[in-house]
Amino acid sequence: MEKKTFVTLEQLEAMTKTYPTPFHLYDEKGIRENALKMREAFSWNKGFKEYFAVKATPNPYILKILQECGCGTDCSSATELMMSEAVGFSGHDIMFSSNDTPPEEFKMADDLGAIINLDDITHIECVEKVLGKIPKTISCRYNPGGVFQMSNGIMDNPGDAKYGMTTDQMFQAYRILKEKGAENFGIHAFLASNTVTNEYYPKLASVLFELAVKLQKETGAKIKFINLSGGVGIPYRPDQEPNDILAIGEGVRKVYEEILVPAGMGDVAIYTELGRFMLGPYGCLVTKAIHEKHTHKEYIGVDACAVNLMRPAMYGAYHHITVMGKENMSLDHKYDVVGSLCENNDKFAVDRMLPEIQKGDLLVIHDTGAHGFAMGYNYNGKLKSAELLLKEDGSVEMIRRAETPKDYFATLDICPMMKKYV
Ligand SMILES: *Cc1c(COP(=O)(O)O)cnc(C)c1O
Repeated sequence: MEKKTFVTLEQLEAMTKTYPTPFHLYDEKGIRENALKMREAFSWNKGFKEYFAVKATPNPYILKILQECGCGTDCSSATELMMSEAVGFSGHDIMFSSNDTPPEEFKMADDLGAIINLDDITHIECVEKVLGKIPKTISCRYNPGGVFQMSNGIMDNPGDAKYGMTTDQMFQAYRILKEKGAENFGIHAFLASNTVTNEYYPKLASVLFELAVKLQKETGAKIKFINLSGGVGIPYRPDQEPNDILAIGEGVRKVYEEILVPAGMGDVAIYTELGRFMLGPYGCLVTKAIHEKHTHKEYIGVDACAVNLMRPAMYGAYHHITVMGKENMSLDHKYDVVGSLCENNDKFAVDRMLPEIQKGDLLVIHDTGAHGFAMGYNYNGKLKSAELLLKEDGSVEMIRRAETPKDYFATLDICPMMKKYV
């Protein structure tokens, strides 16, 4: 499928008069339409809720939009809990799915009334100690081990993943938790990441539904919800077929009716914790070509770098690039598109066929709405960019300002030598 930008060259030229590149830009219309479609896909399930994975796009303005679309938040740290609380999420609108959890964060989550999802059986003791009780509603994260296979091959390798409890531990944990006073139980699992197939959720659901039936029967624990977690992916590459969330919802409904309904568990709520699918395509990184270099290869240097988007450097991930205003020109130049870090993996694209690029051209790097800005860091003393929101009425709102040297030096306020900069 052809990858189109959600913003025009004219709009970007207007924005860059006020906001210098680079910046991340989000598409409110796309976010809302997708979130509502997500809700529709699971509307057959009475208790359905999407808990947006805050780590993907930790911005309160984005969380607010998702809240208006009926989403809760999925948090894994103290600051993510704080941001959720500040936006107005509370109680069971918050899922706390963390691992290697600092005990005080269990306390913080419980104080907000969040649902706690335990990553390990030993966390039962930890939670009991720090809260002085076991919450009435509690969830456990499952890891069946082995490899997770689908019709098109191996999807991922849960046996190698640090998350979740074994099958035996799940049964043991539910027995212990029930004995200690828990009343409402949930099951959570995240077995494959960025799946671009409509099969993943239904396949995962069938594994969890079968486990749920056994768990409830053998331990007497009342299963109230099943959390399919994250992992529904997006087509980063133009040749990939996007997921059809309506087909995915329908696929889950089918196994729900095959497995849960006959077991008398037709009241179990389905939860999801999507990040990438909710935001990925609805954000982009806008950057400007500032140098061209002709050595052993052809390079285009842009004003963004891996600090703004780490996925290519970290995973060799593909992000599509559109040279704005040159959409219809032939892709007859082979470039490495690079940032300025003193790291040779700071490349947004390697050997990419693009139209001829001139200095000053605006480049849109696609699909940075999730795990984009969020993964940013400050290597080489580089500063994080602003985040802008393209609103439904076409106006633009800055939803995070760019970092300044003062922000970068803020933690050196203890140092007299840095006084003039902090
Ligand atoms: C990262 C994460 C998610 C979201 O994953 P996506 O791939 O962005 O959908 C959901 N739940 C948990 C526990 C996670 O760690």
